[in-house]
Amino acid sequence: MKRVYYDLHLHSCLSPCGSHDMTPNNIVNMAKLLGYDMIALTDHNSCLNCQAAVTVGKRNGLVVVPGMELCTAEDAHTICLFQTVADAMEFHQYVKEHSPVMNNNKGTFGSQIIMNDLDEPIGEETHLLINAANIGIDDVVELANQYHGAAFPAHIDRSAYSVFSTLGAIPPETNFKAAEITPYADAGDLLREHSELRDKILLRNSDAHYLEHMREPNAWLALPECTPECLIAALNGEIDITWK
Ligand SMILES: [Zn+2]
Ligand SMILES: [Zn+2]
Repeated sequence: MKRVYYDLHLHSCLSPCGSHDMTPNNIVNMAKLLGYDMIALTDHNSCLNCQAAVTVGKRNGLVVVPGMELCTAEDAHTICLFQTVADAMEFHQYVKEHSPVMNNNKGTFGSQIIMNDLDEPIGEETHLLINAANIGIDDVVELANQYHGAAFPAHIDRSAYSVFSTLGAIPPETNFKAAEITPYADAGDLLREHSELRDKILLRNSDAHYLEHMREPNAWLALPECTPECLIAALNGEIDITWK
């Protein structure tokens, strides 16, 4: 087993609230400087910058997992991760077909920029990416599994756009095997208050929208190999792992 220091929740310049400095190369270089082994790119409701980030990661020796932060019908943010960009893009297409069509107001939300692996803008997403998709939280794990991926609820202890803020708890029907807590959450308190967390892997990710909000690694998963395949198997409960 190898201790993999991770940050599995990062936004690029494609997210309406993401800094334009969050380019594929800047994200990968900052993650390498900070000492990460594995990161995931998880823009709101879109995987359109995953190809660039994965390519830059491969060029620089950092594992980049393609993903998305999906806003479910309940307004609960959920992180979905995939083994390949091809799987992520098929999931992206499904989400797009199950999302309301509303144009982005650049004055309010900023541009949603699509980049290539040289950090050159190659397009803009014109539909606003922060709206809730017509996908229920009970269906997310099975849906991600259909595309060979895994899913976990994001920043559960946050007071907005989290499963706790909208539903009060993680319903058993959701079948999540992991959950993300915010970097400074008291895990002991959360475990006492929410017994449903006791059999789950608790992940701490930065949810950085700005380079300066990426932080030093402080959590790891012990995986057989540092690969998206092993990560997703662990998050689906298919292999037993230790974590901290
Ligand atoms: Zn979120
Ligand atoms: Zn986020």
